[in-house]
Amino acid sequence: MRIVLVGPPGAGKGTQAAYLAENLSIPHISTGDLFRANISQGTDLGRQAKSYMDAGELVPDEVTIGMAKDRMERPDATGGFLLDGFPRNVSQAEALDAMLKSEGMTLDAVLDLEVPEDEVVKRIAGRRICRNDSSHVFHVTYSPPAQEGVCDVCGGDLYQRDDDSETTVRKRLEVYHTQTEPIIDYYRGQGLVVTISALGKVTEVTQRAMAALQ
Ligand code: AMP
Repeated sequence: MRIVLVGPPGAGKGTQAAYLAENLSIPHISTGDLFRANISQGTDLGRQAKSYMDAGELVPDEVTIGMAKDRMERPDATGGFLLDGFPRNVSQAEALDAMLKSEGMTLDAVLDLEVPEDEVVKRIAGRRICRNDSSHVFHVTYSPPAQEGVCDVCGGDLYQRDDDSETTVRKRLEVYHTQTEPIIDYYRGQGLVVTISALGKVTEVTQRAMAALQ
């Protein structure tokens, strides 16, 4: 299956993507994770991306589309993939369509995670992520780790993402509304969108998502 996951920052895309990718036996491809890996490895691409990410803005398409394409062309993605955070604007969606078309492929679904804006801000402000694996996500109030600052799953260090500060979150939300939301209409035109509520327990949202994708 080839699936795109969309939703505002804090909707739980990374968390859901990890479960869904495992259930569906397809790789989870997150452009945000790819950028963060490049930043921590000190690559040129990471240096180019960092200032945009810190400002809550989109990294330019010239950088992003090539990186996403390279990842989708790796052997583990030939049977399908779950895209998390890509595409994030209509020109990226068009580039993805063109890329799939040239390979004789299409998307199967666009899963839209819906969550109210005040909930998003609360979720992100308390979010803590494991340095070893970004799908190990905690929240200081909603799902605190047993030991502060330590991942329950693998013992890794928990940290707050640089772009999870309140000012940057507001900017990311604005960018989501103006640039990313239009892709939902774009894909609606192709009959691909399924919308589910991202409220409730992580396992409930996963069940809802699996049912919607059947
Ligand atoms: P995420 O981890 O998906 O929340 O992404 C974190 C940040 O990485 C975003 O706020 C953007 O600055 C950048 N980013 C991730 N994916 C994309 C994309 N498809 N296009 C442009 N920028 C992106």
